[in-house]
This record gives sequence, C-alpha cells and structure tokens, in this order.
Amino acid sequence: MALSSAFEPVIDLVFPPRCPLCGAGVARHGGLCQGCWSGLVIPGTPACATCGRPFGEGIVAEAICAPCMADPPRHDGIAAATLYNETSRKLVLQLKHGRRIALAPLLARLMAARLLPLDETWLIVPVPLHRWRLWRRGYNQSAELARELARLTGARLAVDALVRRKPTPTLGGLGAKARRRALSGAIAAHPRRAAMLKGAQVVLVDDVLTSGATSNACVSALKRAGAGKVVISCFARVLDEAL
Ligand SMILES: [Zn+2]
Ligand SMILES: [Zn+2]
Repeated sequence: MALSSAFEPVIDLVFPPRCPLCGAGVARHGGLCQGCWSGLVIPGTPACATCGRPFGEGIVAEAICAPCMADPPRHDGIAAATLYNETSRKLVLQLKHGRRIALAPLLARLMAARLLPLDETWLIVPVPLHRWRLWRRGYNQSAELARELARLTGARLAVDALVRRKPTPTLGGLGAKARRRALSGAIAAHPRRAAMLKGAQVVLVDDVLTSGATSNACVSALKRAGAGKVVISCFARVLDEAL
C-alpha cells in the first residue's frame, strides 16, 4: 500500500475528502463526518446469547430472547455492525445504488469490528441475488461487502457458494409462513462448492437483516451442504420485525 499512501496528498488536493453520506468536508477519504457517525447505532449489551439481540437494562447476561426461545435458529450467532435506522438505511441505499466503491470498504470495516478475528480457515459467503436481479443492478451489494470483508480479515471468499434457483418476491409485508413458502427451494449451495463447504466455518454476509427468513434459508442450505458453523454478519439489523 506504499504507492497508494504516497499518492494520497495528490488525491486530497484534486478531490477534497467528503463524507460519502452527506457530502460535508471530512479529514480523510473513506470516513463519515462526525454528524453521520453519531447517527449510527451500534448494538449494545446485554444481548441475547444466541442471536445478539440487545436487551433493555436490567436483564441478566446469558439470557435468550423470546424469538430465539420460540424458534431456535440454525445459525451460530448474528454480528450486526449497526441497528437499522435512518442513517444506516441511507448508507445501504447508497451502496445499492452505485456508491459501492466509496462505501463497501467503510461498511465492511464496521462489520469486521463486530466479528471475532477470522483467518483463512473461515469462508465468507454472500446472500445470493437471483441472476435477473443481478443483471438489472449489475452487482450484488452483499457480495461487494463479502469481498471487502475477506480482504480485511484474511478469510477466504466464496462468492458463488450459494445460488438462487428461482426469483423470490419482495418479502416485506408477508407473514412468517408466506415468507418460508416463497423461499422454499429458492436458495441452494452450488454443487461445485460442495467440497469447500463440507465442515467449513462460514460467515454469511447480508447488507440488511430483516425478518431473517432469507438468511435462515441460506443457513439451512449451507448446513445441508455440510457447513459446521454459520455466523451471520450484516451491516444493519432490523429489530422489531422478528418479534
Ligand atoms: Zn456526513
Ligand atoms: Zn435471540
């Protein structure tokens, strides 16, 4: 990276660093301004021992949240960089609509900070997009985050380990049962990645974790393919919807 840091002063002169979210001037490239930083909410503790859902004050550690009690999840933990709010929503929308080069490294850095240290024994797998949607948008924002996360952590990237075999409707507004039905058979492990997935420790990457229906379908597909452990890493977690 010696070359790129040598060029930094030149880049700063030509393109003064700006906050990628609001455009305010910042000290260096790639960071948010103070105001936007303070708009992000990092999930706190105490939290559910299974899924990391933050509890209110006064709840003992090692407790398990109601949704995990009612329906024990198949994943091995959720590491959310932020809670979904106005600021994280704007960041995700910008990432989706083309600001990926400016934003993917920043968002991935925040995600990596919430994960245990990873090494090359871990596999990073993004939630897949159906190829029609991929074709329309040009890229999968979760794959962009996965790529950056692999670069930051030293874990291996398996961008095509999961595939969408059929397009799924937007899940917002559907009940839990209807979501499951819409997703049934939609996501599978790529047969060519079978050997890689057997016994693997996987970090499943999603930009926004909403109901968990899509990520659950991914976790199930990975475990069916023999993955030993699947931890979910997301940039923004929506909390109320799963309740
Ligand atoms: Zn800003
Ligand atoms: Zn939980």
